[in-house]
Amino acid sequence: MASIFTRIINKEIPCEFLYENENLIVIKDINPKAKIHLLIIPKKEIPSINELEKEDKEILSDMFFTAKKIASDLKISEGYQLHFNVWPKGWQEVMHLHLHLLSDL
Ligand code: 5GP
Repeated sequence: MASIFTRIINKEIPCEFLYENENLIVIKDINPKAKIHLLIIPKKEIPSINELEKEDKEILSDMFFTAKKIASDLKISEGYQLHFNVWPKGWQEVMHLHLHLLSDL
């Protein structure tokens, strides 16, 4: 079954995209834990960091460069947090890789 994020990527569930390119989308977290809480989500349904393959290097790199660009666009480069939760015992609820970007600026 497709993950909730794949359904958002496929536009089966309405959601505002802040940014999109061939590898990923950026959306607002539905339950923000900070003033700004975004999710950077690859279009490829990689479950988590544990399932990353060498061939995913470009996607992962794009996720980090996108985080840097979004932080600059939103003028929060002075302070933000990036994190991955990994597997349910590492607080991951949605098993589709995503990078959290949070800031209170
Ligand atoms: P995780 O705990 O897996 O690292 O984070 C999943 C995040 O996805 C949570 O912060 C949760 O609020 C967010 N989330 C879950 N379902 C949806 C949704 O349908 N839309 C959006 N925008 N965020 C979601």
